[in-house]
Amino acid sequence: TAEDQRPHVVLLASPGAGHHIPMAELARRLADHHGVAPTLVTFAADNLAIPDARSAVLSSLPRASVATATLPAVPLVDDLPADARVETVLFELVHRSLPHLRDLLRSMSMSVAALVPDFFCSVALSLLGARCHEPRGGAARWCRRWRVYHALPDPLKLPGGVSLRAAEFPEAFRNSTGPVYGHLVETGRLYRGAAGFLANSFYELEPAVVEDSKRTVEKGTFPPAYPVGPFVRSSSDEAGESASLDWLDLQPAASVVYVSFGSAGMLSVEQTRELAAGLEMSGHRFLWVVRMPSLNSDSFSFGSNDGHDVDDPLAWLPDGFLERTSGRGLAVSVWAPQVRVLSHPATAAFVSHCGWNSTLESVAAGVPMIAWPLHAEQTVNAVVLEESVGVAVRPRAREDDVGGGAVVRRGEIAAAVKEVMEGEKGRGVRRRARELKQAAGRVWSPEGSSRRALEEVAGKWKAAPAHK
Ligand code: UDP
Repeated sequence: TAEDQRPHVVLLASPGAGHHIPMAELARRLADHHGVAPTLVTFAADNLAIPDARSAVLSSLPRASVATATLPAVPLVDDLPADARVETVLFELVHRSLPHLRDLLRSMSMSVAALVPDFFCSVALSLLGARCHEPRGGAARWCRRWRVYHALPDPLKLPGGVSLRAAEFPEAFRNSTGPVYGHLVETGRLYRGAAGFLANSFYELEPAVVEDSKRTVEKGTFPPAYPVGPFVRSSSDEAGESASLDWLDLQPAASVVYVSFGSAGMLSVEQTRELAAGLEMSGHRFLWVVRMPSLNSDSFSFGSNDGHDVDDPLAWLPDGFLERTSGRGLAVSVWAPQVRVLSHPATAAFVSHCGWNSTLESVAAGVPMIAWPLHAEQTVNAVVLEESVGVAVRPRAREDDVGGGAVVRRGEIAAAVKEVMEGEKGRGVRRRARELKQAAGRVWSPEGSSRRALEEVAGKWKAAPAHK
Protein backbone atom coordinates (compact mmCIF):
# COMPACT_ATOMS: atom_id res chain seq x y z
CA THR A 1 0.00 0.00 0.00
CA ALA A 2 0.97 3.66 -0.28
CA GLU A 3 1.32 3.79 3.49
CA ASP A 4 4.11 1.23 3.49
CA GLN A 5 6.22 3.52 1.34
CA ARG A 6 6.36 6.21 3.99
CA PRO A 7 9.56 6.36 6.07
CA HIS A 8 8.90 5.24 9.64
CA VAL A 9 10.37 7.60 12.25
CA VAL A 10 10.47 6.95 16.00
CA LEU A 11 10.25 10.04 18.24
CA LEU A 12 11.30 9.63 21.87
CA ALA A 13 10.05 12.16 24.44
CA SER A 14 11.24 12.34 28.06
CA PRO A 15 8.63 12.79 30.84
CA GLY A 16 6.97 16.16 31.45
CA ALA A 17 4.34 18.17 29.59
CA GLY A 18 7.02 20.56 28.38
CA HIS A 19 8.79 17.67 26.66
CA HIS A 20 5.70 15.89 25.31
CA ILE A 21 4.04 18.91 23.72
CA PRO A 22 6.71 19.78 21.13
CA MET A 23 7.33 16.14 20.21
CA ALA A 24 3.62 15.53 19.73
CA GLU A 25 3.42 18.59 17.48
CA LEU A 26 6.45 17.47 15.49
CA ALA A 27 4.84 14.05 15.03
CA ARG A 28 1.60 15.62 13.90
CA ARG A 29 3.35 17.84 11.35
CA LEU A 30 5.48 15.03 9.97
CA ALA A 31 2.39 12.91 9.41
CA ASP A 32 0.13 15.63 8.06
CA HIS A 33 2.52 17.51 5.77
CA HIS A 34 5.65 15.51 5.06
CA GLY A 35 4.60 11.96 4.21
CA VAL A 36 6.27 10.42 7.26
CA ALA A 37 4.83 7.65 9.49
CA PRO A 38 5.74 8.65 13.08
CA THR A 39 5.59 6.65 16.29
CA LEU A 40 5.76 8.77 19.45
CA VAL A 41 7.36 6.84 22.33
CA THR A 42 7.07 8.00 25.96
CA PHE A 43 8.02 6.54 29.35
CA ALA A 44 5.74 5.01 31.95
CA ALA A 45 7.11 7.27 34.67
CA ASP A 46 3.98 8.33 36.43
CA ASN A 47 5.90 8.86 39.65
CA LEU A 48 7.78 11.66 37.88
CA ALA A 49 5.63 12.97 35.08
CA ILE A 50 2.53 15.02 35.15
CA PRO A 51 -0.01 12.28 34.48
CA ASP A 52 -2.80 14.53 33.27
CA ALA A 53 -0.58 16.35 30.84
CA ARG A 54 0.79 13.17 29.34
CA SER A 55 -2.55 11.59 28.66
CA ALA A 56 -4.05 14.88 27.50
CA VAL A 57 -1.22 15.53 25.06
CA LEU A 58 -1.16 12.00 23.74
CA SER A 59 -4.91 11.67 23.43
CA SER A 60 -5.08 14.88 21.43
CA LEU A 61 -2.94 13.32 18.69
CA PRO A 62 -4.78 12.22 15.57
CA ARG A 63 -4.91 8.48 16.18
CA ALA A 64 -4.81 7.47 12.57
CA SER A 65 -1.65 9.31 11.61
CA VAL A 66 0.49 9.15 14.75
CA ALA A 67 1.14 5.82 16.49
CA THR A 68 2.10 5.90 20.17
CA ALA A 69 3.92 3.50 22.49
CA THR A 70 4.91 3.62 26.16
CA LEU A 71 8.08 2.05 27.49
CA PRO A 72 7.54 -0.09 30.61
CA ALA A 73 8.47 1.35 34.01
CA VAL A 74 11.98 0.73 35.32
CA PRO A 75 13.12 0.75 38.96
CA LEU A 76 14.38 4.23 39.58
CA VAL A 77 13.89 6.18 42.74
CA ASP A 78 15.03 3.55 45.24
CA ASP A 79 18.76 3.69 44.54
CA LEU A 80 19.12 7.35 43.61
CA PRO A 81 19.94 9.87 46.34
CA ALA A 82 16.80 11.50 47.71
CA ASP A 83 18.09 14.91 46.65
CA ALA A 84 19.02 13.81 43.10
CA ARG A 85 18.48 16.61 40.62
CA VAL A 86 15.65 16.20 38.14
CA GLU A 87 18.18 16.11 35.29
CA THR A 88 19.96 13.17 36.94
CA VAL A 89 16.68 11.33 37.34
CA LEU A 90 15.71 11.87 33.70
CA PHE A 91 19.11 10.83 32.32
CA GLU A 92 19.07 7.71 34.54
CA LEU A 93 15.52 6.85 33.55
CA VAL A 94 16.46 6.92 29.87
CA HIS A 95 19.65 4.91 30.42
CA ARG A 96 17.79 2.22 32.30
CA SER A 97 15.05 2.10 29.71
CA LEU A 98 17.40 1.45 26.78
CA PRO A 99 16.85 -2.34 26.78
CA HIS A 100 13.08 -1.76 26.58
CA LEU A 101 13.57 0.70 23.75
CA ARG A 102 15.77 -1.77 21.91
CA ASP A 103 13.06 -4.44 22.29
CA LEU A 104 10.41 -2.03 21.06
CA LEU A 105 12.44 -1.03 18.00
CA ARG A 106 13.04 -4.73 17.19
CA SER A 107 9.36 -5.57 17.56
CA MET A 108 8.23 -2.91 15.09
CA SER A 109 6.90 -4.28 11.86
CA MET A 110 8.15 -1.34 9.78
CA SER A 111 11.88 -0.72 9.68
CA VAL A 112 13.00 2.57 11.16
CA ALA A 113 14.32 5.38 8.95
CA ALA A 114 15.31 7.62 11.86
CA LEU A 115 15.24 7.90 15.63
CA VAL A 116 14.51 11.37 17.03
CA PRO A 117 15.25 11.49 20.78
CA ASP A 118 14.79 14.72 22.72
CA PHE A 119 17.65 16.23 24.72
CA PHE A 120 17.32 13.97 27.78
CA CYS A 121 16.92 10.90 25.56
CA SER A 122 19.98 11.43 23.39
CA VAL A 123 21.74 8.36 24.78
CA ALA A 124 19.23 6.39 22.67
CA LEU A 125 21.34 7.41 19.67
CA SER A 126 23.75 4.71 20.79
CA LEU A 127 21.17 2.11 19.72
CA LEU A 128 21.30 3.13 16.08
CA GLY A 129 24.93 4.06 15.49
CA ALA A 130 27.48 1.38 16.37
CA ARG A 131 29.25 3.80 18.69
CA CYS A 132 31.59 2.65 21.43
CA HIS A 133 29.12 3.03 24.20
CA GLU A 134 28.44 0.90 27.20
CA PRO A 135 25.02 1.83 28.51
CA ARG A 136 24.98 -0.34 31.60
CA GLY A 137 27.90 1.50 33.21
CA GLY A 138 26.14 4.85 32.87
CA ALA A 139 27.45 7.73 30.82
CA ALA A 140 28.87 9.68 33.70
CA ARG A 141 30.97 6.79 34.94
CA TRP A 142 32.07 5.91 31.43
CA CYS A 143 33.23 9.45 30.83
CA ARG A 144 34.95 9.79 34.15
CA ARG A 145 37.15 6.82 33.43
CA TRP A 146 38.42 8.22 30.17
CA ARG A 147 38.08 11.95 30.17
CA VAL A 148 38.95 14.97 32.18
CA TYR A 149 36.11 17.45 32.16
CA HIS A 150 36.79 21.03 31.29
CA ALA A 151 34.82 23.81 32.85
CA LEU A 152 33.06 26.13 30.39
CA PRO A 153 34.66 29.54 29.82
CA ASP A 154 33.28 32.44 31.85
CA PRO A 155 31.78 34.41 30.24
CA LEU A 156 30.57 32.14 27.45
CA LYS A 157 30.08 33.94 24.14
CA LEU A 158 26.94 32.86 22.29
CA PRO A 159 26.05 33.69 18.69
CA GLY A 160 24.09 36.92 18.36
CA GLY A 161 26.40 38.89 20.64
CA VAL A 162 25.16 37.33 23.88
CA SER A 163 27.65 36.99 26.67
CA LEU A 164 26.63 34.54 29.35
CA ARG A 165 28.14 34.74 32.83
CA ALA A 166 28.83 31.51 34.72
CA ALA A 167 26.11 32.41 37.23
CA GLU A 168 23.65 32.35 34.32
CA PHE A 169 24.58 28.87 33.08
CA PRO A 170 22.10 26.10 33.87
CA GLU A 171 23.17 24.79 37.27
CA ALA A 172 24.26 21.42 35.90
CA PHE A 173 26.68 23.13 33.49
CA ARG A 174 28.43 25.05 36.26
CA ASN A 175 30.07 22.19 38.05
CA SER A 176 32.29 19.95 35.94
CA THR A 177 32.60 17.44 38.78
CA GLY A 178 28.84 17.12 39.37
CA PRO A 179 26.87 14.02 38.30
CA VAL A 180 24.94 15.67 35.48
CA TYR A 181 28.02 17.14 33.80
CA GLY A 182 29.15 13.69 32.69
CA HIS A 183 25.79 13.14 31.01
CA LEU A 184 26.17 16.46 29.23
CA VAL A 185 29.63 15.54 27.97
CA GLU A 186 28.28 12.19 26.80
CA THR A 187 25.35 13.91 25.08
CA GLY A 188 27.71 16.20 23.19
CA ARG A 189 29.78 13.22 22.11
CA LEU A 190 26.74 11.32 20.84
CA TYR A 191 25.45 14.43 19.08
CA ARG A 192 28.54 14.47 16.90
CA GLY A 193 27.50 11.09 15.54
CA ALA A 194 23.90 12.13 14.83
CA ALA A 195 22.76 12.83 11.26
CA GLY A 196 21.38 16.24 12.29
CA PHE A 197 19.49 18.25 14.90
CA LEU A 198 15.90 19.35 14.73
CA ALA A 199 15.57 22.61 16.64
CA ASN A 200 12.25 23.72 18.10
CA SER A 201 12.87 27.27 16.96
CA PHE A 202 12.68 29.14 13.68
CA TYR A 203 15.17 30.98 11.54
CA GLU A 204 13.75 34.45 12.08
CA LEU A 205 13.88 34.05 15.88
CA GLU A 206 17.57 33.12 16.07
CA PRO A 207 19.25 33.87 12.74
CA ALA A 208 22.73 34.28 14.28
CA VAL A 209 22.53 30.85 15.93
CA VAL A 210 21.48 29.18 12.69
CA GLU A 211 24.25 30.89 10.73
CA ASP A 212 26.78 29.95 13.39
CA SER A 213 25.65 26.31 13.30
CA LYS A 214 26.33 26.29 9.55
CA ARG A 215 29.93 27.22 10.30
CA THR A 216 30.30 24.35 12.79
CA VAL A 217 29.07 22.00 10.06
CA GLU A 218 31.67 23.36 7.64
CA LYS A 219 34.35 22.83 10.28
CA GLY A 220 33.12 19.29 10.78
CA THR A 221 32.41 19.88 14.47
CA PHE A 222 28.70 19.13 14.52
CA PRO A 223 26.04 17.79 12.17
CA PRO A 224 23.62 20.26 10.58
CA ALA A 225 20.86 21.91 12.62
CA TYR A 226 17.40 22.37 11.12
CA PRO A 227 15.19 25.01 12.74
CA VAL A 228 11.78 23.41 12.21
CA GLY A 229 9.56 25.02 14.88
CA PRO A 230 7.89 26.60 16.67
CA PHE A 231 5.92 23.57 17.86
CA VAL A 232 3.11 25.21 19.75
CA ARG A 233 -0.22 23.62 20.57
CA SER A 234 -3.22 25.08 18.83
CA SER A 235 -5.84 26.70 21.01
CA SER A 236 -8.35 24.06 19.93
CA ASP A 237 -6.41 21.61 22.13
CA GLU A 238 -7.58 23.63 25.11
CA ALA A 239 -11.33 23.47 24.53
CA GLY A 240 -13.72 23.82 27.44
CA GLU A 241 -14.88 26.26 30.06
CA SER A 242 -12.37 28.50 31.76
CA ALA A 243 -12.82 31.14 34.42
CA SER A 244 -9.64 32.83 33.15
CA LEU A 245 -11.05 33.28 29.65
CA ASP A 246 -14.44 34.41 30.93
CA TRP A 247 -12.66 37.09 32.95
CA LEU A 248 -10.42 38.12 30.05
CA ASP A 249 -13.52 38.59 27.90
CA LEU A 250 -14.57 41.39 30.26
CA GLN A 251 -11.24 43.30 30.12
CA PRO A 252 -10.27 46.05 27.67
CA ALA A 253 -8.06 45.14 24.72
CA ALA A 254 -4.32 44.85 25.43
CA SER A 255 -4.69 45.67 29.12
CA VAL A 256 -3.79 42.49 31.04
CA VAL A 257 -0.46 41.12 32.29
CA TYR A 258 -0.53 37.31 32.33
CA VAL A 259 1.66 35.76 35.07
CA SER A 260 2.67 32.09 35.04
CA PHE A 261 5.76 30.04 35.85
CA GLY A 262 5.03 26.93 33.80
CA SER A 263 3.87 23.48 34.79
CA ALA A 264 6.27 23.09 37.69
CA GLY A 265 7.77 26.44 38.70
CA MET A 266 7.51 27.50 42.33
CA LEU A 267 8.26 30.76 44.11
CA SER A 268 9.26 31.09 47.74
CA VAL A 269 6.73 32.53 50.16
CA GLU A 270 8.71 35.76 50.32
CA GLN A 271 8.95 35.98 46.52
CA THR A 272 5.20 35.38 46.20
CA ARG A 273 4.62 38.31 48.55
CA GLU A 274 6.95 40.59 46.55
CA LEU A 275 5.32 39.60 43.26
CA ALA A 276 1.85 40.33 44.63
CA ALA A 277 2.99 43.72 45.86
CA GLY A 278 4.76 44.44 42.57
CA LEU A 279 1.67 43.65 40.51
CA GLU A 280 -0.40 45.82 42.79
CA MET A 281 2.11 48.71 42.55
CA SER A 282 2.21 48.51 38.75
CA GLY A 283 -1.41 49.57 38.58
CA HIS A 284 -2.05 47.25 35.64
CA ARG A 285 -4.61 44.50 35.25
CA PHE A 286 -3.29 40.99 35.75
CA LEU A 287 -4.19 37.31 35.46
CA TRP A 288 -1.95 35.29 37.78
CA VAL A 289 -1.74 31.49 37.77
CA VAL A 290 -0.74 30.82 41.37
CA ARG A 291 0.95 27.58 42.40
CA MET A 292 1.84 26.38 45.88
CA PRO A 293 4.94 28.21 47.11
CA SER A 294 8.06 26.20 47.83
CA LEU A 295 8.76 25.92 51.51
CA ASN A 296 12.44 25.13 51.00
CA SER A 297 14.83 26.55 48.41
CA ASP A 298 13.46 24.54 45.47
CA SER A 299 12.22 26.46 42.48
CA PHE A 300 10.87 23.39 40.75
CA SER A 301 8.56 20.56 41.52
CA PHE A 302 8.39 17.63 39.19
CA GLY A 303 5.19 15.74 39.47
CA SER A 304 3.69 16.69 42.80
CA ASN A 305 1.77 19.67 41.43
CA ASP A 306 -0.30 17.76 38.94
CA GLY A 307 -3.34 19.94 39.04
CA HIS A 308 -4.68 18.37 42.21
CA ASP A 309 -3.06 20.35 44.99
CA VAL A 310 -4.51 19.40 48.30
CA ASP A 311 -3.78 22.82 49.69
CA ASP A 312 -5.08 26.03 48.19
CA PRO A 313 -2.27 28.13 46.69
CA LEU A 314 -4.43 31.26 46.81
CA ALA A 315 -4.33 31.02 50.60
CA TRP A 316 -0.62 31.93 50.42
CA LEU A 317 -1.27 35.33 48.86
CA PRO A 318 -0.75 38.33 51.17
CA ASP A 319 -3.65 39.34 53.39
CA GLY A 320 -6.11 41.61 51.65
CA PHE A 321 -4.36 41.36 48.27
CA LEU A 322 -7.29 39.75 46.44
CA GLU A 323 -9.75 42.22 47.93
CA ARG A 324 -7.60 45.26 47.10
CA THR A 325 -7.05 44.16 43.51
CA SER A 326 -10.51 42.77 42.85
CA GLY A 327 -11.92 44.07 39.61
CA ARG A 328 -8.53 44.52 38.00
CA GLY A 329 -6.76 41.33 38.96
CA LEU A 330 -7.65 37.64 38.87
CA ALA A 331 -5.66 34.93 40.63
CA VAL A 332 -6.42 31.37 39.53
CA SER A 333 -5.15 28.22 41.13
CA VAL A 334 -2.49 26.07 39.42
CA TRP A 335 -3.52 26.07 35.75
CA ALA A 336 -4.87 28.25 32.95
CA PRO A 337 -5.34 27.38 29.26
CA GLN A 338 -2.20 29.28 28.36
CA VAL A 339 -2.29 29.19 24.57
CA ARG A 340 -5.78 30.64 24.58
CA VAL A 341 -4.88 33.18 27.26
CA LEU A 342 -1.87 34.41 25.27
CA SER A 343 -3.86 34.76 22.07
CA HIS A 344 -6.73 36.58 23.81
CA PRO A 345 -7.01 40.23 22.66
CA ALA A 346 -7.02 41.46 26.27
CA THR A 347 -3.58 39.96 27.01
CA ALA A 348 -0.72 42.45 26.56
CA ALA A 349 2.33 41.05 28.39
CA PHE A 350 3.55 37.82 29.97
CA VAL A 351 5.51 37.49 33.22
CA SER A 352 7.12 34.18 32.32
CA HIS A 353 9.65 31.72 33.71
CA CYS A 354 10.93 31.42 30.11
CA GLY A 355 10.35 27.70 29.76
CA TRP A 356 10.86 27.12 26.06
CA ASN A 357 7.23 26.15 25.33
CA SER A 358 5.94 29.23 27.11
CA THR A 359 8.49 31.36 25.25
CA LEU A 360 7.42 30.07 21.85
CA GLU A 361 3.73 30.38 22.73
CA SER A 362 4.30 33.99 23.70
CA VAL A 363 6.32 34.73 20.55
CA ALA A 364 3.70 33.07 18.34
CA ALA A 365 0.98 35.16 19.98
CA GLY A 366 2.98 38.39 19.70
CA VAL A 367 3.07 38.97 23.46
CA PRO A 368 6.20 40.65 24.92
CA MET A 369 7.68 39.15 28.07
CA ILE A 370 8.87 40.07 31.51
CA ALA A 371 11.49 37.34 31.83
CA TRP A 372 11.69 35.67 35.21
CA PRO A 373 13.74 32.47 34.98
CA LEU A 374 13.72 29.95 37.83
CA HIS A 375 15.41 26.74 36.82
CA ALA A 376 17.29 24.67 34.25
CA GLU A 377 18.09 26.52 31.00
CA GLN A 378 15.50 29.23 31.69
CA THR A 379 18.14 31.83 32.62
CA VAL A 380 19.90 31.28 29.28
CA ASN A 381 16.56 31.73 27.53
CA ALA A 382 15.88 34.92 29.47
CA VAL A 383 19.28 36.42 28.62
CA VAL A 384 18.85 35.56 24.93
CA LEU A 385 15.27 36.91 24.85
CA GLU A 386 16.36 40.20 26.35
CA GLU A 387 19.76 40.78 24.78
CA SER A 388 19.55 39.11 21.39
CA VAL A 389 15.91 38.59 20.41
CA GLY A 390 14.81 41.83 22.08
CA VAL A 391 11.37 40.63 23.08
CA ALA A 392 11.73 40.69 26.87
CA VAL A 393 12.65 42.86 29.84
CA ARG A 394 14.27 41.21 32.82
CA PRO A 395 13.70 42.41 36.41
CA ARG A 396 16.87 41.84 38.41
CA ALA A 397 17.42 40.14 41.69
CA ARG A 398 20.38 41.35 43.73
CA GLU A 399 23.32 41.49 41.36
CA ASP A 400 25.56 39.11 43.33
CA ASP A 401 23.02 36.36 43.54
CA VAL A 402 21.65 35.58 40.07
CA GLY A 403 19.51 32.44 39.94
CA GLY A 404 20.48 31.41 43.44
CA GLY A 405 17.37 32.01 45.45
CA ALA A 406 17.68 35.78 45.33
CA VAL A 407 14.48 37.74 45.73
CA VAL A 408 13.23 40.13 43.06
CA ARG A 409 11.84 43.11 44.93
CA ARG A 410 8.40 44.66 44.39
CA GLY A 411 9.72 47.96 42.98
CA GLU A 412 11.76 46.13 40.38
CA ILE A 413 8.73 44.02 39.39
CA ALA A 414 6.41 47.00 39.10
CA ALA A 415 9.00 48.88 37.02
CA ALA A 416 9.46 45.96 34.60
CA VAL A 417 5.71 45.54 34.15
CA LYS A 418 5.26 49.27 33.51
CA GLU A 419 8.19 49.30 31.08
CA VAL A 420 6.74 46.52 28.95
CA MET A 421 3.18 47.87 29.14
CA GLU A 422 3.84 51.58 28.59
CA GLY A 423 7.56 52.47 28.70
CA GLU A 424 9.99 53.78 26.08
CA LYS A 425 12.30 50.72 26.07
CA GLY A 426 9.12 48.69 26.18
CA ARG A 427 8.08 50.24 22.89
CA GLY A 428 10.91 48.40 21.10
CA VAL A 429 10.06 45.18 22.90
CA ARG A 430 6.40 45.48 21.93
CA ARG A 431 7.30 46.19 18.30
CA ARG A 432 9.67 43.21 18.21
CA ALA A 433 6.90 40.97 19.59
CA ARG A 434 4.58 42.05 16.76
CA GLU A 435 7.26 41.43 14.14
CA LEU A 436 8.05 37.97 15.46
CA LYS A 437 4.38 37.03 15.56
CA GLN A 438 4.18 37.78 11.86
CA ALA A 439 7.39 35.87 11.16
CA ALA A 440 6.15 32.88 13.18
CA GLY A 441 2.90 32.97 11.22
CA ARG A 442 4.79 32.57 7.96
CA VAL A 443 7.16 29.69 8.81
CA TRP A 444 4.58 27.01 7.93
CA SER A 445 3.45 28.48 4.66
CA PRO A 446 4.61 26.44 1.65
CA GLU A 447 7.73 28.58 1.23
CA GLY A 448 8.20 29.22 4.96
CA SER A 449 11.58 28.58 6.58
CA SER A 450 10.50 25.79 8.95
CA ARG A 451 8.33 24.05 6.37
CA ARG A 452 11.22 23.94 3.93
CA ALA A 453 13.73 22.77 6.58
CA LEU A 454 11.45 19.94 7.70
CA GLU A 455 10.78 18.97 4.09
CA GLU A 456 14.54 18.75 3.54
CA VAL A 457 14.88 16.41 6.53
CA ALA A 458 11.90 14.28 5.46
CA GLY A 459 13.47 14.04 2.01
CA LYS A 460 16.64 12.60 3.53
CA TRP A 461 14.61 10.07 5.47
CA LYS A 462 12.77 9.03 2.36
CA ALA A 463 16.07 8.49 0.58
CA ALA A 464 17.85 6.77 3.49
CA PRO A 465 18.14 3.02 3.91
CA ALA A 466 16.03 2.03 6.92
CA HIS A 467 17.57 0.55 10.09
CA LYS A 468 16.22 -2.69 11.35
N1 UDP B 1 0.83 25.53 30.78
C1 UDP B 1 -0.51 25.81 30.69
N2 UDP B 1 -1.13 26.39 31.76
C2 UDP B 1 -0.45 26.71 32.90
C3 UDP B 1 0.94 26.44 32.97
C4 UDP B 1 1.54 25.85 31.89
O1 UDP B 1 -1.17 25.54 29.67
O2 UDP B 1 -1.08 27.24 33.83
C5 UDP B 1 1.50 24.91 29.62
C6 UDP B 1 2.18 25.97 28.79
O3 UDP B 1 1.28 26.49 27.84
C7 UDP B 1 3.33 25.21 28.17
C8 UDP B 1 3.65 24.14 29.19
O4 UDP B 1 2.52 24.03 30.04
O5 UDP B 1 2.94 24.60 26.94
C9 UDP B 1 4.87 24.49 30.03
O6 UDP B 1 6.03 24.26 29.30
P1 UDP B 1 7.29 25.19 29.46
O7 UDP B 1 8.36 24.65 28.56
O8 UDP B 1 6.94 26.61 29.26
O9 UDP B 1 7.72 25.09 30.99
P2 UDP B 1 7.89 23.84 31.99
O10 UDP B 1 6.57 23.56 32.53
O11 UDP B 1 8.48 22.71 31.19
O12 UDP B 1 8.82 24.41 33.00
